[in-house]
Amino acid sequence: KVAAKKAGTLRTHADLGLRLTSPDRVVFPEDGLTKADLADYYAAVADLLMVDLRDRPMTLIRCPSGRAKNCFFQKHDSGSMGAHVRHVPVKESDGSTEDYLYVDEAIGALECVQMNTIEFHSWGSRIDALEKPDRLVFDLDPDEGLGFDKVKAAAVRLKELLADLGLETFPLLSGGKGIHVIAPLDQSRDWPTVKSFAERFSRAIAEAEPDTFTANIRKNQRKDRIFLDWLRNQRGATAVLPYSARAREGAPVAVPVAWDELPAITGANIYSIRDARALLERASGKALKGWGEARQALPDL
Ligand code: ATP
Ligand code: MN
Ligand code: MN
Repeated sequence: KVAAKKAGTLRTHADLGLRLTSPDRVVFPEDGLTKADLADYYAAVADLLMVDLRDRPMTLIRCPSGRAKNCFFQKHDSGSMGAHVRHVPVKESDGSTEDYLYVDEAIGALECVQMNTIEFHSWGSRIDALEKPDRLVFDLDPDEGLGFDKVKAAAVRLKELLADLGLETFPLLSGGKGIHVIAPLDQSRDWPTVKSFAERFSRAIAEAEPDTFTANIRKNQRKDRIFLDWLRNQRGATAVLPYSARAREGAPVAVPVAWDELPAITGANIYSIRDARALLERASGKALKGWGEARQALPDL
């Protein structure tokens, strides 16, 4: 079912019915990859991307001049997105209502790429229950220059500590420098409850294991440590989605991995938009079976 038209053939943006303008425009200058290359990557992995992108308020990183300049975040509609890019009204903290963007089918995501989107980020809740997050994300942000072995060890430590509380977690290579440790939730608690859990949990670890972790966002507090970015877990915050490309050199991709694969993985950006075929094979293989699938109650802390 996933993406292959026939054996060995990857689905392209044309197969999805996308009309792409400026297909030859270079999006990743260091890598010589074009807008068509990016659109074809997304067409090939669309079913995988949609598993998590579907029905979530999203933030796009759009880069009309290629990945290295003039990129901007977009979370509201400017009226210019495609016909399958949908709107959902969301109450802001000041009481006003704003339309947020979401998609519920692959062509909608591809239309965002036509509008020069490189990255897809989303809320941790879905439009049917915006106030009840269905995932907890610990975004591990290593200090500049900290080795990836340290990041992996920290992710495993987090996994153990969350398992002690009864939470199963799944690692995501961010495509950048870090790993996101994700615990799917059962949508039984609201944002303030989930954020409070993430903050208290992160501060407790940073206090117990200060050589490895800090819960303080200030860069000068990070020295050789990993910042546990618990702020991904507040209402309106976003995190990069599995299979999103990144607007970084090498055209890397955020990729789900299994815990038992992690020891052999050498960086958070080892996969790129050139690897659609390998990612599809991985996704249908044994290691990733059940990745992200759990509906868990937030434990008491
Ligand atoms: P890395 O592994 O390199 O840290 P990352 O995706 O985790 O990659 P972060 O810098 O940790 O990147 O950012 C975490 C998230 O914060 C982003 O994925 C994005 O969703 C959100 N974010 C950061 N800056 C903005 C912004 N200006 N507007 C909206 N969201 C933002
Ligand atoms: Mn991060
Ligand atoms: Mn972060």
